[in-house]
Amino acid sequence: MTFQELETKIKEYKADGKKLFTTSSFQTHSLVMLHMLSRIDNSIPVYFINTGYLFPDTIAFKDQVAKEFGIKVLDVKSSMPRNMQVGNDGKLLFTSDPDYCCYINKTQPTDALLQEHDIWINGVRADQSAVRAAMKVEQPAPHNTFRFHPMLDWNAKMIFQYIREHNLPRHPMDAKGYMSIGCEPCTRKMDPEMQEREARWFGMKKTECGLHTDLISK
Ligand code: SF4
Repeated sequence: MTFQELETKIKEYKADGKKLFTTSSFQTHSLVMLHMLSRIDNSIPVYFINTGYLFPDTIAFKDQVAKEFGIKVLDVKSSMPRNMQVGNDGKLLFTSDPDYCCYINKTQPTDALLQEHDIWINGVRADQSAVRAAMKVEQPAPHNTFRFHPMLDWNAKMIFQYIREHNLPRHPMDAKGYMSIGCEPCTRKMDPEMQEREARWFGMKKTECGLHTDLISK
């Protein structure tokens, strides 16, 4: 979807009285949609799902981008305290049950956002994973909401071209060899032969956190 198409769609949603929000992981490639949205309407709330396990670099980068783009970023956290996020073995959940850890720290807080809004503007791209390739531009989601995926037809080349053209900032960990940056315990550096999402939950049969599998209706 082009900038103009995105602008038209946002205006249509607003004219229909829809309550919009977006979420961002503040990785370099996420900034393209965020930048376009900030130029269209910087009053759309941007939520940052802060799991408590993120890299300090990501937190600092989020603050830098919020300032540069002139957007208001709101932190969202799990209501379950960290000391309760342990498995039967007494260890933190991400070691034994990452699906449940993601559910508590990402899916549940985002589900609460859906309950208060109508449209979730989400930057997934079809070229990121098989799950995402099967998505549609507009797709029903829980609580009578819709997910809107304006970046679905963008590929990595287009993303990095936009970043260069608009001189967008880069996540400081890109230069250290990280391509897909999530929580610290579940992210590793890319090997040259790896696909982008394989750098997450390495060694597990998991490439998605649940936001794009649980919070979607077919
Ligand atoms: S990515 Fe890892 S640490 Fe983060 S919420 Fe999921 S399992 Fe927990």
